[in-house]
Amino acid sequence: MTEYQEKPGLDRVEAARDLMRWALDRFHPRIAIAASLQEPVLIHMALAIRKDVRVFSIDTGRLPEETYICAEEIRRQLGVRIEWYFPRREAVQRLETEKGLFSFKNSLEERKECCLVRKVEPLNRALTGLDAWITGLRRDENITRNSTAMVGKDPAHGGILKINPLVDWTSDDVRAYLRKHRIPYNRLLDMGYPSVGCECCTRPIEPGEDPRAGRWWWEQPEHKECGLHVRDWNI
Ligand code: SF4
Repeated sequence: MTEYQEKPGLDRVEAARDLMRWALDRFHPRIAIAASLQEPVLIHMALAIRKDVRVFSIDTGRLPEETYICAEEIRRQLGVRIEWYFPRREAVQRLETEKGLFSFKNSLEERKECCLVRKVEPLNRALTGLDAWITGLRRDENITRNSTAMVGKDPAHGGILKINPLVDWTSDDVRAYLRKHRIPYNRLLDMGYPSVGCECCTRPIEPGEDPRAGRWWWEQPEHKECGLHVRDWNI
């Protein structure tokens, strides 16, 4: 399953394209891109290889307006069909009725509970039946991601392959790619938000702060994951 061989001598853009092509050739249609609708480099790259690439995203119900605007720009300008996944209505009703609208501020456990209902469970449904998924994880984002591999098994999702073509990229690489190809992106990136999540759990960062410092800013850096990309969660 994991026989992808990195080719020496490629720059970071070429290396990402090479991995994307290998992954789509190998796994389509049992592969999909998980789109954060922040900086759609992966979608643009994949569409150049296959117009029918599967793209999904999760609408937690608490995304910023700018993310919805970006999603629509991507859909229209890139001509991609985005499959939306939502949390289970009953689970959100129960959470908000029993714990209120801001329970994620109470403790790490309650924050993870909210992420489990709104993100992790929908992700599990989105990945059902797939052999591989493609993410935009980058090592430079946070200490929780600095050992991420380009390709690896994802034990949290039944051992399917998790493919991370941008793992070596920097935020400058991403911005250069967006500019070069004139791709729509989330306007919050220009407003001090290098990482965008739910509106209520994201703030702009200060100069010199870690790119994910604005996510759950009240928590310690080693906890800054929502459960989509950690292995120690029992999901
Ligand atoms: S990021 Fe915040 S609002 Fe969104 S699912 Fe996680 S805890 Fe809930």
